[in-house]
Amino acid sequence: MTFRTRCFAARCIATVTTGKLMCLRHWNKVPHEIQRRVYDAYRAMRKEEAGSLRRWHLEATRAQLAVAEAEGLTDIVPSLRESVDRMEKGQL
Ligand SMILES: [Zn+2]
Repeated sequence: MTFRTRCFAARCIATVTTGKLMCLRHWNKVPHEIQRRVYDAYRAMRKEEAGSLRRWHLEATRAQLAVAEAEGLTDIVPSLRESVDRMEKGQL
């Protein structure tokens, strides 16, 4: 049985299989460096490394921000950027 979940990109209603962060259309808008960070964080989380859930949330939000910027979603970019900043500082 395959489980499906929603694409993590803002305002996307596409569904993706479990283990994928975004639909292909949005994932392709994530810069390669951030894609690599998402994969690394996902692997760490699967191994249940300390702090990996927090790291995963940070990298997933960073990817979400990159897509919102690429799509010009100027109404939500500032709040996503603030979330990333605060997570990087350990405030979230
Ligand atoms: Zn999507």
